[in-house]
Amino acid sequence: MKRATIEKARRDWAVTPNLLDYERTRAEFSWDAARRALEGLPGGGLNIAHEAVDRHAAGPRRDRLALRFLGKRGETRDFTYARLGALTSRCANVLKRLGVAKGERVFALAGRIPELYISALGTLKHGGVFCPLFSAFGPEPIRQRMSIGDGRVLITTAMLYKRKVAELRGALPGLKHVLLIGAPDEIRALPGTLDFNQLMAEADDHFVIPPTAPEDLALLHFTSGTTGTPKGAMHVHQAVVAHHMTGYYALDFHPDDIFWCTADPGWVTGASYGIIAPLTHGITSVIDEAEFDAERWYGILQEQGVTVWYTAPTAVRMMMKVGTGVIRKYDLRRLRFIASVGEPLNPEAVLWGQDAFGMPIHDNWWQTETGGIMIANYAAMDIRPGSMGRPLPGIEAGIVHRRKDGTVEEVSAPGVEGELALRPGWPSMFRGYLHEDERYRKCFAGGWYLTGDLARRDADGYFWFVGRADDVIKSSGHLIGPFEVESALLEHPAVAEAGVIGKPDPVAGEVVKAFVSLKAAYAPGEQLRRELLGFARKRLGAVVAPKEIDFVASVPKTRSGKIMRRLLKARELGLPEGDLSTVETETEAS
Ligand code: ATP
Ligand code: MG
Repeated sequence: MKRATIEKARRDWAVTPNLLDYERTRAEFSWDAARRALEGLPGGGLNIAHEAVDRHAAGPRRDRLALRFLGKRGETRDFTYARLGALTSRCANVLKRLGVAKGERVFALAGRIPELYISALGTLKHGGVFCPLFSAFGPEPIRQRMSIGDGRVLITTAMLYKRKVAELRGALPGLKHVLLIGAPDEIRALPGTLDFNQLMAEADDHFVIPPTAPEDLALLHFTSGTTGTPKGAMHVHQAVVAHHMTGYYALDFHPDDIFWCTADPGWVTGASYGIIAPLTHGITSVIDEAEFDAERWYGILQEQGVTVWYTAPTAVRMMMKVGTGVIRKYDLRRLRFIASVGEPLNPEAVLWGQDAFGMPIHDNWWQTETGGIMIANYAAMDIRPGSMGRPLPGIEAGIVHRRKDGTVEEVSAPGVEGELALRPGWPSMFRGYLHEDERYRKCFAGGWYLTGDLARRDADGYFWFVGRADDVIKSSGHLIGPFEVESALLEHPAVAEAGVIGKPDPVAGEVVKAFVSLKAAYAPGEQLRRELLGFARKRLGAVVAPKEIDFVASVPKTRSGKIMRRLLKARELGLPEGDLSTVETETEAS
């Protein structure tokens, strides 16, 4: 479609961004006021599902589409707020009938199907703690997480149960109820299980949410396992205040938006923004059951008229690999705002967005532990490509240095690298790592929550990601963030992906080594290797540029799309590979 036509249409549909005056909004912001933007339970207390579903189901947006599911085979299933209200009440009644107690853990293992979303919201209504598991997990990661989380209930499909869970039952003594989605005959043949749909059919449409307090536990999320064994981060009901507020400022939600978050609810992004935040705003979310496919994705953006799109750098890099040519075939004039999270967004990718979609991609930063977006590039602010943006209203971020005695000092001078830290106190902050109190305590010092990520802040308050503390390379007295090196390599037309590690070296301490996968039109070879080494050296200088480059078919990633540098390093050094529960396997990647 012609650029001019798209630009005119976008002007016609233009909305005023929610965050226009950054300084003023920050100065006037209070969490109490943010809390008042929500309704609260009629009898007092706060419940995520009430804010996400019930208050809209009982209000003027009751007939508005809440969730639209696009099935793998092209089928569509729609749920209005009213219908979602009734179905989530049924689910809460099912849990009540089974005698599930408040605070007990309800796990779900399923693809992006409606029952998963209904279970999440039904559990929250009932007062249980919801824990999503990524559907591609094998039996061991499932067992590990369900034991740590002492799962009382598991909601899954008959197929996944047969393939992965049945063999684990003996190892999960605390698991009392297994609710299966599938054909009744198939479920009847599986001992020790119940039919989810049958229970739902027998349950009542009405459910009065028991008074959950703002500090009651609501969600258990396991981290991505990029740097080690995944941790179980616990979140409370008042996290919804942050979900709602960040949806408003960072994702710029407006009442008529059609939103698409491409993350799976198995990861925190897919729950905080794939389920909760858009619903609290009463807008429509599109959910695609299928995995990444560039043409399918552009088709969805076009056909569903997506206005706000939240995706991840790994997906952006895959789209870049396919090229901009295909995008021109699609009418994406409704698209207004694109955001990305999960990994650093290479400057090259930000600019590619401008070329491909006529708008830059807005990077934002947060973690499973923070429960919601903490630092972001906003719709009305100029982007500095490669920067994560500025802290949300209500969030104070700083750069700190750890001293040897365990205390920390804040670095106020701009441009200095250090650990990214946040002042505790926002509502979606994790309340602990399940069964790992010591590890949790170690995250705090000197009145800061220490994120484990390294960054710097420029003179205007924009934050720049350097790398994870665990991944940073120390070479000849210099600290080198892998992101900078990977970004430089990505600027070369042949490079599709790059992962960079420090390789022990007797002279330099460590030297930079890069693993590179190539775009389809390029083949690995000595000449290209030399070209890339020279290319990086020119951009980065001799100290920071990689000394070695290996070609790989693909860079190892977590299932949530994060480059696993620890695995590249372990393989390079012939060391044990550590926890592999979240590694994306080659077949899934292809
Ligand atoms: P684990 O803690 O188990 O090693 P993880 O940290 O990858 O896994 P998540 O909580 O899913 O688990 O990811 C959060 C991390 O992802 C952040 O701490 C940061 O390192 C990275 N990240 C997220 N968004 C960005 C971003 N915009 N820029 C740079 N890094 C990001
Ligand atoms: Mg982490």
